[in-house]
Amino acid sequence: MKPFEYVKPNTLAEAISALDAGGEDARALSGGTDLIVQMRAGRNVVGNVIDVKGVTETNVISHSKKDGLTIGSSVPCYRIYNDEGIKKTYAGLVDSVSIIGGTGIQGRASLGGNLCNAAPSGDGIQSLIILGAVANVEGPNGARQIATEDFCTAPGQNALNPGELLVSLSVPEPESNAGAHYLRFIPRNEMDIAVVGVGASVVLDAEKKSIVSARISLASVAPTPLFVEAAGDALKGTEIASDSVEKAAIFAQEAARPIDDMRGTADYRLHLVGVLTKRALKVAIERAENQ
Ligand SMILES: Cc1cc2nc3c(=O)[nH]c(=O)nc-3n(C[C@H](O)[C@H](O)[C@H](O)COP(=O)(O)OP(=O)(O)OC[C@H]3O[C@@H](n4cnc5c(N)ncnc54)[C@H](O)[C@@H]3O)c2cc1C
Repeated sequence: MKPFEYVKPNTLAEAISALDAGGEDARALSGGTDLIVQMRAGRNVVGNVIDVKGVTETNVISHSKKDGLTIGSSVPCYRIYNDEGIKKTYAGLVDSVSIIGGTGIQGRASLGGNLCNAAPSGDGIQSLIILGAVANVEGPNGARQIATEDFCTAPGQNALNPGELLVSLSVPEPESNAGAHYLRFIPRNEMDIAVVGVGASVVLDAEKKSIVSARISLASVAPTPLFVEAAGDALKGTEIASDSVEKAAIFAQEAARPIDDMRGTADYRLHLVGVLTKRALKVAIERAENQ
């Protein structure tokens, strides 16, 4: 690994100033489970590492009916899936954070780092997208919000401007009769990258017979995580008992642009998109029914 400067700021202002001053080869560090691995492999040449774990705002978990859920960018997975409020209200998010790596990785890896790393296979990103989460970003020119479906711009690239830091993620309070689920296919039980991952969320009507709205997002089938608006729209206003889930799965397959690689062929991935979209929707609907 090439030598680098390391700083651990205590405040958000110090972190932004250090990131800005560090220039193009400065990187924020949360859990380091992507960044350190990439630096060791020489895939990410970094001159200045700004460890943001000491910043209060990146460590917060707060939840209220009015403001929804806020998760600091450096909060590790284990704190998210052990939080009783999150377990009760955001099961789809727990699906994601509890399968990232294994127990050791989950002790360090953050949802914010997962999003900023912008891997097409990032398991946390799909749940953020289907739950309508926004990224709270702050930099030398002030604060702004970015919808999580717009955050990843290319493999390993995100929408942050130089000097900007992801501070936290805001996930709205789910509507009544809502449910969400994320699942992935991997050839092993854990510690593998998604061959395909699918997240689905639904809101049902008061009688729990029809779908009011739905969101579907796909992992590992395009250069970025893929929000498939058309698949969600295909479900709007349809009865649960209808064939709309089948139609949504076809829309998801049409949107997917998979490649052949060592984990699977494009055809295999397309097949998986269909199967997993139906499974994700089934569980999301069951969760909404049981609310
Ligand atoms: C053995 C192993 C297994 C893994 N398994 C999985 C898996 O199953 N699923 C999966 O999705 N991933 C997996 N990963 C990848 C990794 O653990 C996750 O992507 C993790 O969520 C990254 O979070 P982190 O806090 O460690 O990020 P870091 O490594 O600290 O950072 C990742 C990237 O985000 C940037 N960054 C971090 N924080 C900020 C911030 N606040 N503002 C701006 N930029 C920031 C960094 O500069 C870096 O580019 C695995 C990694 C390992 C080593």
